Amino acid sequence: MAMSEDPVREWILTEGKATQITKSTPVGGGCINLATRYDTDVGPFFVKTNRRVDESMFEGEALGLKLMYETYTIRVPKPFKVGSLPRGGSYIIMEFIEFGAARSGQPALGRKLAEMHKAGKSEKGFGFDVDNTIGSTPQVNTWTSDWIQFYAEHRLGYQLKLARDQFGDSSIYEKGQRLAKNLAPLFENVVIEPCLLHGDLWSGNVTYDKNGEPVILDPACYYGHNEAEFGMSWCAGFGSSFYNSYFEVMPKQPGFENRRDLYMLYHYLNHYNLFGSSYRSSALSIIEDYLRMLKI
Ligand code: ADP
Repeated sequence: MAMSEDPVREWILTEGKATQITKSTPVGGGCINLATRYDTDVGPFFVKTNRRVDESMFEGEALGLKLMYETYTIRVPKPFKVGSLPRGGSYIIMEFIEFGAARSGQPALGRKLAEMHKAGKSEKGFGFDVDNTIGSTPQVNTWTSDWIQFYAEHRLGYQLKLARDQFGDSSIYEKGQRLAKNLAPLFENVVIEPCLLHGDLWSGNVTYDKNGEPVILDPACYYGHNEAEFGMSWCAGFGSSFYNSYFEVMPKQPGFENRRDLYMLYHYLNHYNLFGSSYRSSALSIIEDYLRMLKI
């Protein structure tokens, strides 16, 4: 096979500085892409390919990984290269991380995540330089100076419109929009700074390396309110030791508990849009509880 027919091998054998690829092995466990481990004389590389999407999806992933990596806080794989495949589709090459059985566990995860949130600052406001995806749903990251506006429009508003457009669900749309337009009372006396977020932090995207240090994978990064990072906590199993160490680095803000469901709502709506009506009642009951609480 000519080199240009296989850009992944070509990169590994040139810029990747390997002289020989000894083995390539499929890696299971992913949801969306095909994952492969390439063993070489300079160590292993981790590669994901997708025959159906262009480079933009992996460019979003690579930019997120790079920015998280450059905070030098929590471990993430270093991204090396994104490109397109000759017969359609695209790939990403990154550092292969060997996972281990030993775990420093939740206190280390909480502390390091908070350190990443503290270090990952933005001068452009809330958003990201590229749009990305949450699951397979598009995630719009248009830079916005006001967090409440960003969350109302690009997070809740986007998902509510999608539910209306694909399921004809005008009921959840109208109630959800009523909430989205009245979020300000939930943020009284809160200082909201844009923080670099992983964006899709659930147990499937958290693991531990050979030294037992936490590793986070497969992000949907953007700069947002740090508390939005806990929006997937219903699938993450974070316990009190996680939150205690997190808040030692990033102090808890007034009204934190009143915003927890609000941040979960985005992900419940996304699950409703991705997987159908079994998630509708969770999303709707969060909306209705807030409408009652805020008397709107
Ligand atoms: P997908 O984009 O399809 O959801 P994932 O990012 O979840 O794929 O990765 C698929 C599998 O590969 C998972 O089991 C994950 O644990 C493993 N994996 C992901 N990134 C790395 C890496 N950098 N090094 C080693 N294994 C990885």
